[in-house]
Amino acid sequence: MSTVSDYFGSLVFDDRAMRKSLSSDVYASLRRTIDEGSELDIGVANAVAEAMKEWAVERGATHFTHWFQPLTGITAEKHDSFITPAPDGSVIMEFSGKELIKGEPDASSFPSGGLRATFEARGYTAWDPTSYAFIKGKTLCIPTAFCSYGGPALDKKTPLLRSMEVLSKQALRILRLFGNDTAKRVVSSVGPEQEYFLVTREMYEKRPDLRFTGRTLFGAKPPKGQELDDHYFGVIKPGVTAYMEDLNEELWKLGILAKTEHNEVAPAQHELAPIYTTTNVATDHNQITMEIMQKVAAKHGLVCLLHEKPFAGVNGSGKHNNWSIATDSGQNLLSPGETPYENAQFLLFLCAVIKAVDDYQDLLRIAVATAGNDHRLGANEAPPAVISMFLGDELNAVLEAIETGKPYKGAKKTQMKLGVDVLPKFNRDTTDRNRTSPFAFTGNKFEFRMLGSSNSIACANIMLNAAVAESLRIYADRLEKAENFQTVLHDMIKKTIKDHKRIIFNGNGYDDAWIKEATEKRGLLNYRTTADCMPHLLDKKNKDMLINLGVFTEEELRSRCDIMLENYCKSVVIEANTMADMARTQIVPAIEAYASDIAKTASAKKAVAPELACGYEAGLVRKLSQLIDEIDEKSGKLEDAVLALDGADGIIEESAMIRDTVLPVMSELRLPCDKAEVLTAKSYWPFPTYADLLFGVK
Ligand code: ADP
Ligand code: MG
Repeated sequence: MSTVSDYFGSLVFDDRAMRKSLSSDVYASLRRTIDEGSELDIGVANAVAEAMKEWAVERGATHFTHWFQPLTGITAEKHDSFITPAPDGSVIMEFSGKELIKGEPDASSFPSGGLRATFEARGYTAWDPTSYAFIKGKTLCIPTAFCSYGGPALDKKTPLLRSMEVLSKQALRILRLFGNDTAKRVVSSVGPEQEYFLVTREMYEKRPDLRFTGRTLFGAKPPKGQELDDHYFGVIKPGVTAYMEDLNEELWKLGILAKTEHNEVAPAQHELAPIYTTTNVATDHNQITMEIMQKVAAKHGLVCLLHEKPFAGVNGSGKHNNWSIATDSGQNLLSPGETPYENAQFLLFLCAVIKAVDDYQDLLRIAVATAGNDHRLGANEAPPAVISMFLGDELNAVLEAIETGKPYKGAKKTQMKLGVDVLPKFNRDTTDRNRTSPFAFTGNKFEFRMLGSSNSIACANIMLNAAVAESLRIYADRLEKAENFQTVLHDMIKKTIKDHKRIIFNGNGYDDAWIKEATEKRGLLNYRTTADCMPHLLDKKNKDMLINLGVFTEEELRSRCDIMLENYCKSVVIEANTMADMARTQIVPAIEAYASDIAKTASAKKAVAPELACGYEAGLVRKLSQLIDEIDEKSGKLEDAVLALDGADGIIEESAMIRDTVLPVMSELRLPCDKAEVLTAKSYWPFPTYADLLFGVK
């Protein structure tokens, strides 16, 4: 049997493969492009393409594709085979540098939010050499950025790469001020922890709601849920173990550093965490991971649910985005460090993040907004829709000492002055845990916990990188002009703490009292739904920051706002239609059949023994009939609410109607259906119940 180190990355055209198959000149030139972003000339591209094709064909590939991430949130690919006819009737396998660098997919069906006129179907894809090509099935996949012909980005990768650039640029300005002349780049890294549910394929197929919407729209609470907390970190069932083993193997072949796996809080819920890597690569890897998770599940007779809230009343699934920034030589800028001098630099980067999160709470909320995630945020199990930061006792004490000018309790009665050696030494392991904070400092990185399990991590990291770059830009502008660096630095840090401490909260984020305090006393934002937050993408302060930094253009922002809202509306409309359909064509007939059989039973009993009152049967038939009437009425109301959307004046109004009329009526319709489920004999119920689904995988 081969060991993991034998096959790890075997399907990736990684540095090892490049070194082996490229001449040293070509390799060096490609490396410069990857590491420094220098331009690649066509001669080099041709050589790389040829080597890539040889490598891929040897491993069974017949096709190549430009793999990209349109705004649908999933990945897209269009396959072309390598074959080229030869004069003698045979074929040869060819792949040119031009084909490697640029593709022109017919892009007319991808959402563009009006960026691409419908008659102009062309978009183009451009190779991203910083993310390695890989083989999936029989196809060589080349990670690419996707743009419309006029130039605006139609994908998530382009702005992510831009945000990484601007963060690097601004962070380097700060590092130079602290005397670091050697760093060439500053890189943001991410380790996304991915939660998911597994259900059996057989049961999944019987639930139109799962098939069409990814979540259950009906379902009474099961007798046992997660109340015993016996699933979290529990022993993994054999069927799940087999799945995880297979999944790891597939991911490892693709060079994905799958590392940790365990059961999560809800029954049937699990988590997979990779080792962190560069934001750009981590994003690509997370997209591939989600795809492979579903593929491997199919092989095991399972379905992997990536929806944020597949089951009501049971924890939803998120994705924890562990984020840090480091120099190209590996110095983590969010690591408190041991020496005071590093501390001052650390505190400045820490302040940059605090300021960024407070100033751009709305952008971070927008970055995680989807119809699915709205069910999760604030549902007493996931972080609330209010954004706050957790720093832990030690850092809090340090910040407090700086703000008040009083001695830092952790150190020996010394007054906090930055840049001089009275700064405390931080203990490395004192960052306590707080699982309820949306944005927690965890020792040398921040864990942003609001992302939904199905979200691409690109959006959150674009906003995070950009917002932090903006803080750093403002700091660097001031510090570069400062006559007395130490004084300006100290005052700036002090001012940041004073101005932005409202965003720091170390208590229980799930507490209702906190939401009240956050919104009423501290003035923090609480956008509960996608419809509430999304239009703020176009607020002046947000547009100014993102456009000035060059992360988005104005038209890109407008189109993204439209697309996200359209996506929200469409997702909910599909749910509403599925609900009404299931209620009318499955649930009502099932209840009718059961009620009718009960009524027949009562008549049969009375025929035999006329003195029987058959009170139970009569009562049940009455209750079921009332529920049927209610279901009918609410289904009608829901259908009307959906029809009324046609009258909406624009997408913002439509999304508000979804929030105010469609979603509430969906809850109203669910209620009588779930009531009927527990009154109806199981053999009549038309699809698997929560108990079946949650405890069905062996
Ligand atoms: P927990 O569940 O306790 O938060 P995990 O071990 O499940 O911790 O996940 C932690 C994630 O954070 C992993 O993906 C890990 O690689 C990542 N991580 C660790 N250090 C860093 C860092 N400096 N920058 C970014 N991510 C990091
Ligand atoms: Mg975590």
